[in-house]
Amino acid sequence: EKLKLRRIRSVAAITLDGTPVELCANIELPEDVEQVKENGAAGIGLFRSEFLFLNRNDLPDEEEQFEVYRTVATKMRGLPVTIRTFDLGADKNLKNAPQVAANPALGLRAIRLCLAEPQMFHTQLRAIIRASHYGRIRILIPMLSSISEINQTMNLIEYAKQSLREEKLPFDEKIQVGGMIEIPAAALCVDIFMQRLDFLSIGTNDLIQYTLAIDRVDDSVAHLYDPLHPAVLWLVSRVIQTANRAKVPVAICGEMAGDIRFTRLLLGLGLQQFSMYPAQLLIVKSQILKSHLPSIIVLAQRIVKAENPEKIHGLLAKLNS
Ligand code: PEP
Ligand code: MG
Repeated sequence: EKLKLRRIRSVAAITLDGTPVELCANIELPEDVEQVKENGAAGIGLFRSEFLFLNRNDLPDEEEQFEVYRTVATKMRGLPVTIRTFDLGADKNLKNAPQVAANPALGLRAIRLCLAEPQMFHTQLRAIIRASHYGRIRILIPMLSSISEINQTMNLIEYAKQSLREEKLPFDEKIQVGGMIEIPAAALCVDIFMQRLDFLSIGTNDLIQYTLAIDRVDDSVAHLYDPLHPAVLWLVSRVIQTANRAKVPVAICGEMAGDIRFTRLLLGLGLQQFSMYPAQLLIVKSQILKSHLPSIIVLAQRIVKAENPEKIHGLLAKLNS
């Protein structure tokens, strides 16, 4: 089976009816790039940059970050590398950071923390933007919940660019900036958010957590964490549809994207960009190669409209058969 999968490594991910699908990889460490290439990814859809904070107490400086981002960009040889700005706090904590918030998942994390620590954010933005001279880097903003966060971030990006211009440091003037849709408010306001963003990436791991009020790291409620909950499917479907209509690129980079039980469902909802752990890429590709979109769409629409779990699971089994 593994051998069979290896053979489709360089085969384009296209459905039976000829719809191209973009399969990208999620990485957590620069070393993961080897696996990304081995599995024939079209790019890096999510580079979780928090590893820079692992096992240390000081902040990584601009040069250290720049070297990491540049190395990854160079190794990817012009394929897109989507670097997510620090998603610190909650489940991705700093070593020795005082855990003061009672509800860290609802607290000062990700973009909120970055906006509250503009110097730290400025350093990361400069490092990312400088690295954009060496490959096709894109910036991805985690945990957006309001348009004001987008506006503030855009201003800080412009400020970082201006500082580089003044120092005559080269960078990609047209570097793309995307936002993660992983809070229900962002999914509901996606029409407005996407007017200011170059691309969207749906973080289903957090979107499920926040939609269902299920702590993703609490084992006692893990059985209630349900990607097929009608509310989750409705939000995911709506974001994809809204983005597709406006021709704004949209991906899913949560675990759902790498789970072949959901590949056809997501294709049927209109998703054409997936990002997942490198080890999932070929199995998902093999599923895409045997899928016929027109027949899938009908069933996928029925799944989104179905109101009870038995019906949803029944239809999904049919879709995957
Ligand atoms: C997500 O929330 O789906 C996501 C991809 O981000 P992370 O798992 O890093 O929170
Ligand atoms: Mg997330």
